[in-house]
Amino acid sequence: MPMFREIVEGKARILVPVAERIYDAPVFYNPVMALNRDISVLAVRLSGAASIIDALSATGIRGIRYALETPAGEIWLNDISEEAFRLMLRNVEANFRIKPALAGKMAVLSGEKRVIVTNRDANLVMAENFRHFDFVDLDPFGSPVEFLDTALRSVKRKGILAVTATDTGVLCGAYRHACLRKYLAEPIRGELCHEAGLRILIGTVVRYAAKYDLGVDVLLAYYRDHYFRAFLRLKSGARKADESLSQLGYLWQDVNGRFEYEKAPLPGKPRAHGPLWLGPLKSQEFVEGIHRLGKEHPIAHKKTLPFLETLAGEFDIPFHYDTHALARRNGLRVGKISGIIEALREHGYRATRTHFSPTAVKTDAPFEEVLEVLKKE
Ligand code: SAM
Repeated sequence: MPMFREIVEGKARILVPVAERIYDAPVFYNPVMALNRDISVLAVRLSGAASIIDALSATGIRGIRYALETPAGEIWLNDISEEAFRLMLRNVEANFRIKPALAGKMAVLSGEKRVIVTNRDANLVMAENFRHFDFVDLDPFGSPVEFLDTALRSVKRKGILAVTATDTGVLCGAYRHACLRKYLAEPIRGELCHEAGLRILIGTVVRYAAKYDLGVDVLLAYYRDHYFRAFLRLKSGARKADESLSQLGYLWQDVNGRFEYEKAPLPGKPRAHGPLWLGPLKSQEFVEGIHRLGKEHPIAHKKTLPFLETLAGEFDIPFHYDTHALARRNGLRVGKISGIIEALREHGYRATRTHFSPTAVKTDAPFEEVLEVLKKE
């Protein structure tokens, strides 16, 4: 029998197994992901989603927070593990003070909110609920690819698909063949690997969605704590799918750190990285909206609001220059990032920090200009 302890996150009180390391626990709970869950709760609130599935739920924390902290009326929690199912039931009962009615591998709580807890393969649950959910949340161990098809069928055609990927080693090029297998994309190593990995993930969803004549708008996508997260608004229609596909392309980088990218169905020259998404990584309205909501909401992680502020202030242009990497590649000393950003702005360019790295800058200045500024600062 595992030992449990109670934790509080947002408005939820959750029993989690006691274990020395989080991956040894019989049911998974990672306190670091409170920031991911905070942002997700805010995204649900802002979008007004009424029906949600937390398809890979573990302790139930995510779905229970959606039920307690958003106006959503119907929330599904699912996990394939029987131990997780039993724990989800206990946690639902404790938070709503009603015992869910259990029938086999499903339990339903019918109160003010309808909370449905299931113990099945997520692909089966999603396949059986065709175009049912306003918000589908995939938060797997590793890659979400094995769930993308059914998720895209179970989300409404203008709904939101939220995906986490924790296989950053794969998407960032440490395991190139795994990236080719899972994402059919060539990853990049080095300072651009995280942004490129995030864009490969989005590009993959865009390709899967196109099969169903669905386009994709990126509401928000980010990298943090060794995971990627994307909130994607679907758009119905073949033309929308074509428009999204036209935002895919390739990236090149040389030894000095100069990069270029091109929107094209196939790479125009060798040594290309991709295909990857070259469109926006955020809707400014959406990020500012969740940031505003976050100021009046019980936020669980102390970094959530500062992180949203960084995201809101970030210049949304593909890729960035990491000043440390550029200095190393070109035999330069590295100056302060704030001075470099200021100098680029004085030269008439846009330049901001980026959440991808504390030493990097997003700018529309050409590579030579960035190097010149780096030499002077
Ligand atoms: N969403 C949770 C949270 O925020 O705390 C964490 C989920 S954990 C990373 C992934 C969960 O997916 C595990 O509990 C695992 O049992 C479950 N899982 C793995 N394969 C599954 C499948 N095919 N169907 C349903 N659940 C699955």
